[in-house]
Amino acid sequence: MEQVECIIVGGGLAGLSAAYGLASAGVEVMVLERGDYSGAKNVTGGRLYVKPIRGFYPELWEELPYERPIARELVTMMGDGAHTTIEIASDRFAGAKPQSYTVLRAKLDQWLAEKVTEKGAMVVPNMKVDELLRKDGRVIGIRAGGDEIGAQVVIVAEGVLRLLSSEAGLAAEPQAKHHALGYKEVIELPSGVIEDRWHLNPGEGAAQFFMGACTKGMMGGGFLYTNKESISLGMVVGMEDMRRRRDGTESWQLLDEFKELPQIKPLVAGGVVAEYSAHSVPEGGISQVPKLAGDGYLVAGDTAGLSLNALVTVRGMDFAIASGYFAAEAVKRAKKAGDFTAAGLASYEASLRNSFVLKDLETARAIPGFMENPRLFTHYPVAVSRLLESIYTIDERPQAGLFKKAWRGLRRDFMNVATVKDAWSMRKI
Ligand SMILES: Cc1cc2nc3c(=O)[nH]c(=O)nc-3n(C[C@H](O)[C@H](O)[C@H](O)COP(=O)(O)OP(=O)(O)OC[C@H]3O[C@@H](n4cnc5c(N)ncnc54)[C@H](O)[C@@H]3O)c2cc1C
Repeated sequence: MEQVECIIVGGGLAGLSAAYGLASAGVEVMVLERGDYSGAKNVTGGRLYVKPIRGFYPELWEELPYERPIARELVTMMGDGAHTTIEIASDRFAGAKPQSYTVLRAKLDQWLAEKVTEKGAMVVPNMKVDELLRKDGRVIGIRAGGDEIGAQVVIVAEGVLRLLSSEAGLAAEPQAKHHALGYKEVIELPSGVIEDRWHLNPGEGAAQFFMGACTKGMMGGGFLYTNKESISLGMVVGMEDMRRRRDGTESWQLLDEFKELPQIKPLVAGGVVAEYSAHSVPEGGISQVPKLAGDGYLVAGDTAGLSLNALVTVRGMDFAIASGYFAAEAVKRAKKAGDFTAAGLASYEASLRNSFVLKDLETARAIPGFMENPRLFTHYPVAVSRLLESIYTIDERPQAGLFKKAWRGLRRDFMNVATVKDAWSMRKI
């Protein structure tokens, strides 16, 4: 059997980040990617938080093919015929060192794969790994298209579906209740139109989240990110809620219906759909993170469940890049010690535990349970919009005072046992 020092399954951000670190240190590394190229099968909403990862591979982040630094954050709560948008803007969001950028994976992953190749790693596209080879409980290589390749260590970065890792017993099979389903379109619009529609300075970007009526009561929401000359528009819904749905709506129809809503239609007017994709997202949080290393293997990125939807911030790409970085560090250490057993690779989990990755997931431990509350997606977006609508309404009757109007709305929709219970459960998030 042909032998290499390290095989990486999956040329997404986690796999490529690990490959970059290893190849830079002269480790022999082969990345096997089933898509036509890195980025061909990878889906994201669109925003990469760069601050947490700037310290890893600093030479890369200045050159990365970003779309726009995000200067404006918008949250739209969609009610029953009324909606409320909150805008959060800060000089510190964009500025000299922006905290986040919009990205397009087809460009970003392809670019990173080129950098990895320049460092001396081999990135093999159109190569689907069919099996992880094991001997005496240890991962010893892979089988792809009838060929077997041995490795001292295999980094499994196959993404959310965990087909190989669950088959080999390295991680549990994904369950619907811990996942959401995302649909996304990239819609081309001229850059000037984007800047006018989202009130942006030239080159700056916006991120907008939508919650409430758009998901028809299901857990999830809509998202919109502005790229240089396109927008990424999508919808993410909890798989379990989707499965329970009985009105016959197919999940993909939600995005079509979303685009027709009066709040969205003017935003996409004149746009041309350039890309359509669908993908699942791990949303189980830290309780679904499997064992991260064993004899001869490490798991990284979505395969390791490293993703966090905290209602208005969605993270996964920064975790994928960080886990790839720490995987590379652990493999370098194991190589030095000549020990690729679970003990020799244990520094991987320790590094993740000491970093923002597992710390932030631990802090957010209660979020997946909190998000199961349907009132977040039904009652509150409607109630907020109803309250503000009543304050801004002048009709033919003599008007109540401002305080009285607000108090009436607060008492009706927010001062009840259910809201108190919800507020109580919020203290954990
Ligand atoms: C709709 C949606 C919106 C999101 N929004 C955001 C966001 O705004 N910000 C954010 O940070 N994160 C977001 N995420 C999460 C983020 O995209 C993921 O966490 C991230 O892409 C994980 O990277 P990865 O490298 O682990 O997995 P992937 O990018 O999925 O890479 C896995 C790779 O493995 C390859 N592969 C799989 N099986 C095999 C095999 N058997 N053989 C060979 N190759 C294989 C695949 O082709 C793929 O290239 C979103 C995700 C979705 C779906």
